[in-house]
Amino acid sequence: MAYKFVDNYREKGARKKLVIELKEKKGITNASVLNAIGSVKRHYFFDETFWAHAYIDKAFPIGDGQTISNPYTVAYQSQLLEIKKGDKILEIGTGCGYQTCVLLEMGATVYTIERQEALYNRTLKVLPHLGYNAQFFCGDGSKGIPEFAPYDKIIVTAGAPFVPQILLKQLAVGGILVIPVGDNKEQQMMKIVRINENDFEKFILDTFKFVPLLGEQAW
Ligand code: SAM
Repeated sequence: MAYKFVDNYREKGARKKLVIELKEKKGITNASVLNAIGSVKRHYFFDETFWAHAYIDKAFPIGDGQTISNPYTVAYQSQLLEIKKGDKILEIGTGCGYQTCVLLEMGATVYTIERQEALYNRTLKVLPHLGYNAQFFCGDGSKGIPEFAPYDKIIVTAGAPFVPQILLKQLAVGGILVIPVGDNKEQQMMKIVRINENDFEKFILDTFKFVPLLGEQAW
């Protein structure tokens, strides 16, 4: 993929339109999320031939059998996380790193893990090149990354068959886990808040379709 640091009027205008669509038609209200979506140059994750698709609210194949998540899903999960500047976030499923950039734009410190080595290697290089710095890990994120726990927030960007208890243990008290849970056809978004050492509050939200979370505490 060729990277050209171009953000001309056309791309800026398209990004603004996307933000308006997410706000006015799709119910994203968090100003910090909308601001981040309005700032991250999603066209850099596409080959130049496909830039016209970069600010349409849809997932898109980006090569190597990978897909960039649709902006609505990224915004929806980010909004559920109630991110505050300085939050320490664990992201499971780095993929191409678009969601990672949105979290970084919101002022979070991000630990992100991807199980596919080729994808990990690519994103590890691309994000710093675009000016985004996260802590990148390659491995099975279904077990979290206990060495760096606790996390204020944990986001899972692949569909899980159940909520891995090991992830709940890595949440700080007051922390939030956002994870899609279901079968291979569809998943319900879950938001789980750690109330205290032993208690959690669970909210079951909208239906989505994610690629599967594969691993020891997953499919
Ligand atoms: N967040 C990305 C974006 O912004 O476009 C999209 C992520 S994609 C929907 C889900 C990713 O989760 C895939 O790259 C997949 O390889 C990864 N994944 C699946 N199981 C995993 C696991 N156990 N640990 C880490 N990553 C995993």
